[in-house]
Amino acid sequence: LGAADEQVVMADSTTVNLYKLASAAMARQAPRNVIVTDHSNFPTDRYVLEGVAASFGGELRFVDADRTNGPARSDVAAALEPDVALVALSHVGYRSGAIADVEGITADAHDAGAMVLWDVCHSAGAVPVELDRWNVDLAAGCTYKYLNAGPGAPAFLYVRGGLQAELRQPIWGWFGQQAQFEMGPSYDPVPGIGRWLSGTPGILGLVAVDSALDVLAEAGTQRLRAKGMELTGLAASLVDEWLAPLGFELDSPRDAGARGSHLSVRHPEARTISRALRERARVVADFREPDVIRLGPAPAYTRFVDVWDALSRLRELVSSGGHRELEARDQRVT
Ligand SMILES: *Cc1c(COP(=O)(O)O)cnc(C)c1O
Repeated sequence: LGAADEQVVMADSTTVNLYKLASAAMARQAPRNVIVTDHSNFPTDRYVLEGVAASFGGELRFVDADRTNGPARSDVAAALEPDVALVALSHVGYRSGAIADVEGITADAHDAGAMVLWDVCHSAGAVPVELDRWNVDLAAGCTYKYLNAGPGAPAFLYVRGGLQAELRQPIWGWFGQQAQFEMGPSYDPVPGIGRWLSGTPGILGLVAVDSALDVLAEAGTQRLRAKGMELTGLAASLVDEWLAPLGFELDSPRDAGARGSHLSVRHPEARTISRALRERARVVADFREPDVIRLGPAPAYTRFVDVWDALSRLRELVSSGGHRELEARDQRVT
């Protein structure tokens, strides 16, 4: 994460951490009460921010951004009115994979008196993250995408050292308390990052993070990033060669340096194709509304031949019309 010691804790889920961080920022920034994000931000981020803004009597404001290339620095700069308390965006977009200019957007937000909260769910472990160097105030992310600890493993949050004494998170729990086991009468939190803890963590999930991080530390972020760019690069060229003639369109930035480690394609029948791909061709991709299939080759364990095979099965499925043979049925998880 590019964070010096004493600025990161693992706790709770990303959703809960976003709530804690955004609430603390809003309390500090009053009377400013507007949060800025973009329409392509992950749903839970938008919902939490909407709720936090409402609870501070403010509103969530959306910047106009390109759906494939994500929010540009100039898009965000145009939204930095004097009532903006917080800019909350994703480093790597969950759908298109676009990488945002964290350093530039953060500098502009600070110049305008706003704080920043970056979601690094889709970048941690896939793309170099430099929270200290980029002067980020707050960040949150999960450990079950490119950190490979499995769904339900705990999330993490980052609070810049210089801000910790000024901020109060809203879930006052005994894990943030000084002398926790004295069981004292009222809340008196530790001075550092530990005050962002609330309650007992899931130990099995933490154990999974521990092992997963050993593997990533051994591989090194730079090597994972290099392989990630080549994996999505191979996928993009196979999309052009094999899938474009079948009606697919790339929905991620073309330049590998401008996207994270996943690649999205659009197709009018994406929903049934994605399901048939899983059930009949044994390739697990994600369908994302309204017409996107997302392929996420994790560089730590996905091989080039896996990318080749996955796209070849996708081509075979759609050119034979096999996906149309599935009976219509609703699916909650896509
Ligand atoms: C995966 C993801 C989440 C997930 O949040 P949970 O609380 O773990 O369900 C949140 N935000 C982003 C940007 C994500 O990619």
